[in-house]
Amino acid sequence: MALFDKKSPERRIDCPRCFCKTTEEEVEVWGPNITIDRCPECGGVWLDKGELAILLKNKKLSDYLTKEIGTQSKSELVCPKCGGLMDIETAEGIEVDVCLTCNGVWLDFGEMEALERLPKDFRGDELAKAEERWEELSRKERRSVLSGLFRKLR
Ligand SMILES: [Zn+2]
Ligand SMILES: [Zn+2]
Repeated sequence: MALFDKKSPERRIDCPRCFCKTTEEEVEVWGPNITIDRCPECGGVWLDKGELAILLKNKKLSDYLTKEIGTQSKSELVCPKCGGLMDIETAEGIEVDVCLTCNGVWLDFGEMEALERLPKDFRGDELAKAEERWEELSRKERRSVLSGLFRKLR
């Protein structure tokens, strides 16, 4: 792993936790290398959409964390890339912040390693996901579903 500093400090993203400039780090992977942004203060890393799957070499786990994130924001963080709201997704107690808009991921120090330690056949908590989906659905569509029902009844 080598350290690069290709962009000027102004173009680098700010850490969403401590608001200092992150530094770019090029990571060697199969295929073209990817560049991640690491905060020198807290050690958190920013991963653009798709980079988590490449780094983890586990698309299933990455999908679990970044797909079906809904529209509700439970995170206090603001996306350092696009300024959008972020949500917290959990895998075995590891809380990961995912941007609802650009689907980038913020990992606090040690979370990457913790995710890597999860079993490769990690399935996640389908029940929790289903509950989240229902919550999402009920907020958005309960009204329209109900009004549809009433229309039918009448
Ligand atoms: Zn930081
Ligand atoms: Zn974003």
